[in-house]
Formats: sequence, C-alpha cells, structure tokens
Amino acid sequence: MTDTQIPMAGSSAAPEKVVKTDAEWRAQLSAEEYEVTRKAGTERAFTGRNWDLKDTGSYDCVCCGQALFDSATKFDSGTGWPSFYEPVAPEAVGLNEDRKFFMRRVEVVCSRCDAHLGHVFPDGPEPTGQRYCMNGFAMSFSAAKAEGGSGATT
Ligand SMILES: [Zn+2]
Repeated sequence: MTDTQIPMAGSSAAPEKVVKTDAEWRAQLSAEEYEVTRKAGTERAFTGRNWDLKDTGSYDCVCCGQALFDSATKFDSGTGWPSFYEPVAPEAVGLNEDRKFFMRRVEVVCSRCDAHLGHVFPDGPEPTGQRYCMNGFAMSFSAAKAEGGSGATT
C-alpha cells in the first residue's frame, strides 16, 4: 500500500486567473493597450512605451498588474520594442505556438490574464539566448524603490 502521490508540477505556483469581459477590458485599457493585449496586436516599432527605457524597475502586465520582466534582463535589441532575455519567473508567462502566415513563432502571454504580450525568439543574448520581444503597450513600468539593506555599490 502506498500513499505516495506525485505532486502536479507547479500546482502551488499557479497564479489565480484574472478573467474579465471584453467590455471590462475596453473600459480599463487605453485604445493601444486594448488592441495589443486583447486583440494580439503589435504596436509599430519605436512607437510604443519604454522600448528605450533604461531605468531600474519592474515591467508589469498592463491588464492585471502581474510582474512580468525585470529591467535587469532588458537589453537593447535595436528592434524598437522592449526586449528581455528572460521573464521575472517562468510561471509569469505562458507560451503558445503561433502559426500565422506559415511562420512558426512563439507567442508570449501573461499567465494570469492571458494578455498578449509579444513573441519570443531564439536569437537573444546570453545567458538564455532568448529574445522576448514585447509590446510596450502591454506593460506598465514601475520604478524600483530605493531600499535600505542591500546597500549600493561600494
Ligand atoms: Zn496579466
């Protein structure tokens, strides 16, 4: 007799889902934010938010506020979209295969509210080699607060 149960991977880490109606999203978001996140749109390069921002802080889902990317993993990809080499946590994002136009791309969504964020490509820098090409309108930036304790560089 055995009581051993195999725990489901990530069961405790799964974020609670945020589900809203289309009308609720439309009321909450700006036109650009709505088009990108709920209609899987893509802002034109160099026209979105924060693509060239270098401040220290967190990039959060514009729809539900979940932290998605940290400025420490942001790099200058030259594409005109905010680009990161990894999400703040693996469970923060979901990946879907996107076969539009006979191209195989991997769509990146918020794991909490399924907002469309952008795509991930395998041509990024070390250490991951991944390039998370995000839409600026899909994320809101919150600057890091200066915290005592860890101290600045000496
Ligand atoms: Zn979200």
